Amino acid sequence: MTSREEELLPNPTNDLYFQMLEVALDEARLGHAEGGIPVGAALFTQDGTLISRGHNRRVQEGDPSIHGETDAFRRAGRQSTYRDLVMVTTLAPCWYCSGLVRQFRIGTLVVGESRNFRGGVEWLREHGVRVIDLDSQECVDLMAGYIGAHPEIWNEDIGESPK
Ligand SMILES: [Zn+2]
Repeated sequence: MTSREEELLPNPTNDLYFQMLEVALDEARLGHAEGGIPVGAALFTQDGTLISRGHNRRVQEGDPSIHGETDAFRRAGRQSTYRDLVMVTTLAPCWYCSGLVRQFRIGTLVVGESRNFRGGVEWLREHGVRVIDLDSQECVDLMAGYIGAHPEIWNEDIGESPK
């Protein structure tokens, strides 16, 4: 059994992770409605208590440092430890956000999908972060639609602009 199959087995924990993903998806849709990049994220305790939520606001605020993950992270305020927290994001995290996960030792990362962008998923796993990929079709479609319509903004967001 591959680790990917293991992750996708139906179990009560995955149900909880899908519920958490709904919050991140709401944020992604909100960002999209604002004219921004549709990536949303949230921080939860292991039992599913919401700590904070946020979304990418590069376009809205003209601020390249506001990714979904960093927005949720900042809105959580100071936390004494992140080991027992769950970061949920609609799309696999870029290097910047993967660095955030490692820097603050966030123990569990739930990604809505990693098909449009693989980001730092393998790197995080190699360094002991528990990464659960829910492979949500809704997340895949939302991001694929955006990348198709606005490739230049997406490339800018992940540092791959040609200029
Ligand atoms: Zn990021």
